[in-house]
Amino acid sequence: MRLAIEIDEGSGFCYGVIRAIEKAESRLKETSALYSLGAIVHNNSELERLNSIGLQVVDLEQMKELSDTTVLIRAHGEPPTTYALAAERNISLIDCTCPVVLKLQERIRKTYAAGKGQIVIFGKIGHAEVNGLVGQAGGDAIVVDSIASLSKVDFSKPIQIFSQTTKDPKEYTEICDAIKERIVSAGGSLENFTIHDTICRQVAQRHKNLVAFARKHSVIVFISGKESSNGKVLYDLCKSVNPRSYHIQTVDQIDQQWFTEGDSVGICGATSTPKWQLEGVAQALGEM
Ligand code: SF4
Repeated sequence: MRLAIEIDEGSGFCYGVIRAIEKAESRLKETSALYSLGAIVHNNSELERLNSIGLQVVDLEQMKELSDTTVLIRAHGEPPTTYALAAERNISLIDCTCPVVLKLQERIRKTYAAGKGQIVIFGKIGHAEVNGLVGQAGGDAIVVDSIASLSKVDFSKPIQIFSQTTKDPKEYTEICDAIKERIVSAGGSLENFTIHDTICRQVAQRHKNLVAFARKHSVIVFISGKESSNGKVLYDLCKSVNPRSYHIQTVDQIDQQWFTEGDSVGICGATSTPKWQLEGVAQALGEM
């Protein structure tokens, strides 16, 4: 079958993930084993590669059992309680929190400390980055993930809204518009509503470019791990403009029936999809 194949240049790890992986690899040149609190990237294939060179993923409960060792904090960041735990257990941290997330954490901390109103976070409930953000307000933040979940917010009081860095900019605008409507219906003033523009620029730009990329091709093969929240958002975006979009986690999930002779196939992925995986899919399609 003859296919025209193109890999999206904008796909592949984002800056924060590259930085965290480089730090882990650099430390693993000096030591044979290193712990990472949570998966450094939501991609099993890349995790297996890192595990083979000594990176061991632990969860918070397992970290509580460790002492006198080193643990890596991934790009998503952590709440202050994790830093306190590390100090208590004499654990050194390699802090790979992405600078963009660090800045967002600081904004929430300062806004909360200034008592400027309810802290509302638009993000995936339970996501590591979101947990880290909630921790900046001492747990006193409302996480919303849809318009339906807005019932948790008190519209008669001031609201400060922040978004998880990897959320869809369009969805964030929709949530903010819904909040404005409810404030007005409750007879409140929009002056008490502050929207913080906290979606990562790299992610926002990727959204725009991906729409054009998905439209340009007859079929889209999107690669990302099941756990990747950014992957879900970006895949849904591709599917919304190109119904022949398929989501896979590994190259062996490709189905020949998706393609017809002469199709142009676009290969893309999330901020947690390694370039080598995109290239592997391109090679498999080429061999088809
Ligand atoms: S998506 Fe943006 S904010 Fe999140 S880790 Fe990557 S570069 Fe940092």
